[in-house]
Amino acid sequence: MRRFLVAGNWKMHKTLDEARQLVADLLPLVEPACGGRDVVLCPPAPYLALLGQLLENSPVALGAQTMHWEEEGAYTGEVAAGMILTSGGAYVILGHSERRQYFGETDESVKRKVKAALAARLVPIVCVGESLEQRLAGQVEEIVIGQTAAALADIDAGEMGPVVLAYEPVWAIGTGQTATAEQAEEVHAMIRAFLQQRFGQAVADQTRIQYGGSVKADNAAELFAQPNIDGGLIGGAALKAADFAAIVQAAG
Ligand code: PEP
Repeated sequence: MRRFLVAGNWKMHKTLDEARQLVADLLPLVEPACGGRDVVLCPPAPYLALLGQLLENSPVALGAQTMHWEEEGAYTGEVAAGMILTSGGAYVILGHSERRQYFGETDESVKRKVKAALAARLVPIVCVGESLEQRLAGQVEEIVIGQTAAALADIDAGEMGPVVLAYEPVWAIGTGQTATAEQAEEVHAMIRAFLQQRFGQAVADQTRIQYGGSVKADNAAELFAQPNIDGGLIGGAALKAADFAAIVQAAG
């Protein structure tokens, strides 16, 4: 039985005071719903330690939006797994399409980061997804399974326990254009079939696959009702407490 996982990716939004206020508004709405679900907030890196403190006695967990694969070093601007952990973080988003599109993230760097996150005992949320051009060219499976296989190339079945995948069609991120529940379920089922082939039935059955791409309070329930959708990675709607709480409540 897979537990639903809903993660809020704040991207590059909120001042420090706004971040504090959002947590204050969110916790009373979200905490009562945490019983059967995992909920994670992924703020900008400078706020990790603050949120680590604010969430310390809460069932809501903390995650980062990216990390480097090295433990430390001369990598100006980067964040190491140990920094996330010692700020109270337990999760890290890897391979988000915005990292791939704007910051040179590649299948190779995602692969190294997944390995490093697991070595540090962080839960990696590995994002995969096709662009509109790729969808229209009939390349959904090639791209999504290609990215998934590349990210997990150095991982064996025994290491897969914590790994979370997030299917995020690029054309649905921040556009208001959500994949239909059927479109999303079709790709999630493809990913699960790949996991079964590559790692075996037990890993396929236990690995959580989130959907991300313009998930809102009014479409979350239908998406989350699909058999292979195990929660959501939420961008825009994670910036408003009531919207995010409604999405959490729609899970499960
Ligand atoms: C995301 O950034 O992962 C995302 C899904 O964004 P949005 O919900 O705004 O489409």
